[in-house]
Amino acid sequence: MARGVFFNIPYHGHTNATFPVVRELVDRGEDITYYLTETFRPQVERAGARFQGYRSLLETELTAGTVGFLPARLPAESRAVIPQVLESVRALKPDYVVYEGACMWGSFVANLLGLPGISLRTTLVLGPHLAASRAFMQERMARFAPLLEQASKDVASLLSDFGLPPKSLWEMMGHVAPLNLVCVPRAFQPGGETFDARHVFVGPSIRARGDVGDFPLSRLEGGPVLYISLGTLFNAWPEFYRMCFAAFGGTPWRVVLATGNAVNVAELGPVPDNFIVRPSVPQLEVLERASVFVTHGGANSLMESFAYGVPVVVLPQMAEQPINAARSEELGLGLAL
Ligand code: UDP
Repeated sequence: MARGVFFNIPYHGHTNATFPVVRELVDRGEDITYYLTETFRPQVERAGARFQGYRSLLETELTAGTVGFLPARLPAESRAVIPQVLESVRALKPDYVVYEGACMWGSFVANLLGLPGISLRTTLVLGPHLAASRAFMQERMARFAPLLEQASKDVASLLSDFGLPPKSLWEMMGHVAPLNLVCVPRAFQPGGETFDARHVFVGPSIRARGDVGDFPLSRLEGGPVLYISLGTLFNAWPEFYRMCFAAFGGTPWRVVLATGNAVNVAELGPVPDNFIVRPSVPQLEVLERASVFVTHGGANSLMESFAYGVPVVVLPQMAEQPINAARSEELGLGLAL
């Protein structure tokens, strides 16, 4: 039995696909400790790992409704989290650490303690070497230039404070570990054939989450089901939800609409009888019954939809979602709007 440690940022889109991997390792007799914020304790414990908490700037910002441009926020997050976890990880003496691709502090901690690091990516791998992402990255680098300049300084001072060799922000972000597990199929990854054997494209990582609660799944029986969600981060778009009411209210569709926490459902106006509207829904069980998914195109939502054979209509909102949307259409898996 080996001892492993997981590190992650407190976003559902970065954590959901890691729990099935944790469960599988635990079932094979591995001893796993998972570092995340208190919000995720139930999921970590359900996956069979030991929970270790830390406080996160990213989570504070998310709760306040001010989600920033992630690459620019990771150095500050790293500076806040590393001192909270370093000594406890050292004391665990793990055989390996697994960090999600966006968890910059995870690769720092692995480096500082000289531990074998495995990167687990829940999104596409982007990089300037890929035609599909080059223009997208250039556009974002221009748009967020002042923030990135500050973040680059933060990375430089963080590396120097910890006595690590200098690296740029993009070297830290694009860091390739000796083993990189990517939770999309190679066929979906743009330029998939260009990645070497350090990358293993394992595809969707999905397992029942036990989060059905009191959701009325029986109301989805007997008719075509349309599922609508803009994910867990950039979903504060009441006008869009009202457009959905106008477009699909009074039709034979049974419509499930997940709004996220930023919108007050009571302020959306009268909810059509054929809608179920909730801040959060058991997405896997809904997709299992759905005929089509109107989605923001987060990598997890797409992988989950495809795993259940559900075509998508993608309205990209942020980050690499325009690339995900284009790829879905290119492969005949859905439409990009
Ligand atoms: N999710 C869920 N219920 C909801 C909305 C989302 O369980 O009502 C889950 C979904 O199954 C997925 C994750 O939250 O695993 C969202 O990740 P994704 O990468 O699609 O988008 P993000 O929220 O990171 O933008």
